[in-house]
Amino acid sequence: MKRILLTSENWQNTITEAASVLSNGGLVVFPSDTVYGLAANALSQRAVDKLFMFKDRPRGKAVSIAVKDLADAQKYVHMDSAQQKTLSVILPGAYTIVLPARHVANPKLEAEDQTLGIRIADYPFMRELSRKVDFPYTATSANIHARGPHYSIDAFLNTLSEKKKELLDLIIDYGELPHNLPSTIVNLSSPELPALRKGSSKLKLVKQKITTTPEETKMFAVSLLKKYEHTVAEKPLLFILQGDLGAGKTVFSQGLGNCLQTVHVVSPTFVLYYEYETKHSVISKLHHFDLYRVENTDDIKLLEIEHLLQPKNLLVFEWGERIGSLPQLLNNKPATVIFIQIDAIDEKTRKFTAYEL
Ligand code: ADP
Ligand code: MG
Repeated sequence: MKRILLTSENWQNTITEAASVLSNGGLVVFPSDTVYGLAANALSQRAVDKLFMFKDRPRGKAVSIAVKDLADAQKYVHMDSAQQKTLSVILPGAYTIVLPARHVANPKLEAEDQTLGIRIADYPFMRELSRKVDFPYTATSANIHARGPHYSIDAFLNTLSEKKKELLDLIIDYGELPHNLPSTIVNLSSPELPALRKGSSKLKLVKQKITTTPEETKMFAVSLLKKYEHTVAEKPLLFILQGDLGAGKTVFSQGLGNCLQTVHVVSPTFVLYYEYETKHSVISKLHHFDLYRVENTDDIKLLEIEHLLQPKNLLVFEWGERIGSLPQLLNNKPATVIFIQIDAIDEKTRKFTAYEL
């Protein structure tokens, strides 16, 4: 087991070394956009066997593979042109795309229904490693089956026996990774509309939109509100906004505020929460949260969101990924929940992807 501390100085050499270990059938622990991953040559019988020996993983539990781009993905899964078009909007990104396998990659990596998960990550290390090798590599989390994934190498190694450690040929340590959520699984393998899963809940892709001005973003917010406003008479509507600082979460919320004729919506960054009366016929209040400063679930409890889960309420959450467990929060109360992922493509271009729970 060799361990390298990845730095900008040894970046290129480390990628070259990782590529060479993978080409020889070895296992490499690597940093990713989510947790530490475990790479093996996905075309090699020996490498994949070694991976499963390490993971203690039952067969039929799929392992996704990292590929260079959509053209490369076509070699390993069946994808029609419409699917390719949809995917070109959300990739590269933190998604695992599930499609019927061509059985070119090792079939042991497939799920029981012969589908295969594909990752095209927006993460320099993974992308550069993909370019360096002429095969896809596994992008499974570096943990033993049924144990949690890891954001730091030391935490990971502490869970391993000496025997397990010997199976790892190269460990690339990039320090403590940001605690990002695992990738969202986009299952396109069924003939119906894209059904998505996040954790155990099903998500449905409802709208995608690219905007190039704040005004367009506000209009997009209004169009989403129009789609769901009629449901608010019966149950609350939640917009959960996810995206980096400056993505446009507040601009989006202001679009909702304009449509509802509230007073001007301001960023609640320093107060966590604002409540606005509206002049809308169905929606009586807009509750605007900014969870940027939320550090744990106790903070969420203090907000007493459950009292707001009533008809006629619109709840908007910036940094919505920090809301914690949604099932726990909803506690079986009826609600319409819309996740909105915002990606900043460049200074003016924003990509919106909306999913309905
Ligand atoms: P967040 O709340 O996600 O941190 P804000 O909504 O406060 O971000 O800020 C978004 C910034 O990006 C604003 O300064 C806005 O003018 C700028 N911007 C540029 N293009 C767009 C766009 N297409 N949509 C939304 N905002 C945009
Ligand atoms: Mg904001």
